[in-house]
Amino acid sequence: MIELDKISFFYGKSQILNSISLKADNGKCVVIAGPNGSGKSTLLSIIAGARKPSEGTIKSDGKIGYVPQCTALFEDLSVKENIRFFASIGKVRTVDLNELPFNIKEIENKKVSKLSIGMKKRVSIACALVSDPSILILDEPCAALDIIYRDELLDLIGKLKEDGKTIIYVGHDFNEINRIYDNLLLIKNGNAVFYKNKSELCCSSDELDSYVRKALQI
Ligand code: ADP
Ligand code: MG
Repeated sequence: MIELDKISFFYGKSQILNSISLKADNGKCVVIAGPNGSGKSTLLSIIAGARKPSEGTIKSDGKIGYVPQCTALFEDLSVKENIRFFASIGKVRTVDLNELPFNIKEIENKKVSKLSIGMKKRVSIACALVSDPSILILDEPCAALDIIYRDELLDLIGKLKEDGKTIIYVGHDFNEINRIYDNLLLIKNGNAVFYKNKSELCCSSDELDSYVRKALQI
């Protein structure tokens, strides 16, 4: 579970987020969407605990896994070594790489600096999952993934929800969003345009896409 109450954030004098609230229960996925520069990644970094909000409060009740938009891995280490590191900071002693998603086993000995962006994204998601977080924060995770791994990720999010995990997901593609979301927070220029439940929006991906465009006036 994670709950944000009236979160605001300033970079110096410029206000990036203005009084954003949301609640994500166990087993639910909140999707955050909005145009470039609207503050989505800043909001996720605050939810992950990397940045402190200027105003507002956050309540959460579990271990957090975070996949930032710009993948944060140790470039000089191998995939396996990165996985081991993230396991150890998550207090997990042994990892079976065969059990990790995205065919991590097949690239375990590669140095991260030698990987493609999509491969790095697979590793970054695996690193976030390895400590078995109860809250998983994903910032545009599908952007660099090919269709197969995108599908695997969306299926995996479904399973994590069934296991009672909380997912916070930033994305742009409403075909993908429609498969996973329970609540949709739409933000523009740091303001919430709306925060709605799936039952209030329930429609096809195309309808959802045009509803959001209308709400954003684009
Ligand atoms: P989004 O993820 O929705 O594209 P971001 O959260 O990355 O948006 O950025 C929101 C706004 O904050 C943008 O106007 C961006 O230029 C600004 N911004 C992002 N990072 C910094 C920073 N480190 N210092 C100052 N402004 C920043
Ligand atoms: Mg972003």
